[in-house]
Amino acid sequence: MNAETLTFKSGELAAVSIGGEDGSGTLIKSNSQIKKILAFPFVANDQTVTDEDIEGTMKIEYINFGESRITIADTSKVNLSVSDQQRANREALLIREALSKNDSTLTPSFQFIRPVAGIVTSPYGKQRYINGQKRSVHLALDMNGKTGDPIIAPLKGRVVLVGDFFYTGNTLILSHGEGLYTSYAHMDEINAELGKIIQQGKQIGTVGATGRVTGPHLHWTVYFNGNKINPEWLIEEDFLKTLLK
Ligand SMILES: [Zn+2]
Repeated sequence: MNAETLTFKSGELAAVSIGGEDGSGTLIKSNSQIKKILAFPFVANDQTVTDEDIEGTMKIEYINFGESRITIADTSKVNLSVSDQQRANREALLIREALSKNDSTLTPSFQFIRPVAGIVTSPYGKQRYINGQKRSVHLALDMNGKTGDPIIAPLKGRVVLVGDFFYTGNTLILSHGEGLYTSYAHMDEINAELGKIIQQGKQIGTVGATGRVTGPHLHWTVYFNGNKINPEWLIEEDFLKTLLK
């Protein structure tokens, strides 16, 4: 039997029917079928992937999200000193560690609300150039805001990291359960305590310009099962309906 190849977008969160009733990971029943929630990573070229619970192969389609060129006047934040590089490396480990602190008591609804009111100023997937140097792809969403604007929890979650980091400034990470995490960077103030459960819609902090930034905004990253996915699709009005169609 030849299963058709399903196609997904770079950075997409999707629900895919599994052949039967049994599977691992996040399973949701919709239209009397059991579906598995999968996160497809950003890809620089079309790629084919498989999943143990899904018959056949799946294609991840490359999307050209464009590029963005920014200028950081403080060159010490671009060409790091040895001690700053060591600090950034230590912080990368802390972030990785926080992203393994899954809260097994939580089950995400995937019914996201916007963390800030502001519009998207830099989408997911753009190739970044800083002061003319090619850098990593922007696998987060930048949302506009003024310093002090509230940031709210887009889903119920537990605070698994708070800190002041070299690149991301005042940073908070929420675990929403089942391998779903969201991260908030460049905050002015953090209004939530490590270890606490935050209800959806409750304030976790305010927009700021801490860390390496050109101005105040929220840099919002969403991780599912280790992949950084495109947050912009998650806050579309009919996201959950579309996911479970
Ligand atoms: Zn950003």
